[in-house]
Amino acid sequence: MGCVFCDIISKEIPARIIYEDEFAVAFDDVNPQAPVHVLVVPRKHIATSFDIKEEDDALMGHLLQVANKVSKDKDIAERGFRLVMNCNREAGQTIFHLHLHVLGGRLMHWPPG
Ligand code: 5GP
Ligand code: ZN
Repeated sequence: MGCVFCDIISKEIPARIIYEDEFAVAFDDVNPQAPVHVLVVPRKHIATSFDIKEEDDALMGHLLQVANKVSKDKDIAERGFRLVMNCNREAGQTIFHLHLHVLGGRLMHWPPG
């Protein structure tokens, strides 16, 4: 089965990639929900956060480091930003390749929808 994010990682599908390294890729969301809306994804295909294995612990920490770097590069680190990871249907997950949403550039509300 095809995976849109695997295709973005392999550059078969274009995306506005803003950061990439050996383990992760960050790119602008095609349908942004805030002035800054970046997706941070591992190169490794992991379907959901519930599928994270112990061997992925360092990788997950790395995704947070990349999210922090993105927030600094996009100038939202000081103002604040929100990290979101939707898991499965009721949370609204639509792409089953684990990803962190980095959202910022406007006031966020709580509770989330
Ligand atoms: P989810 O709902 O699974 O947490 O988030 C999936 C996100 O991926 C959505 O915010 C959606 O706009 C974004 N998205 C879906 N397809 C593409 C695509 O082809 N390119 C990019 N850049 N983002 C996508
Ligand atoms: Zn994938």
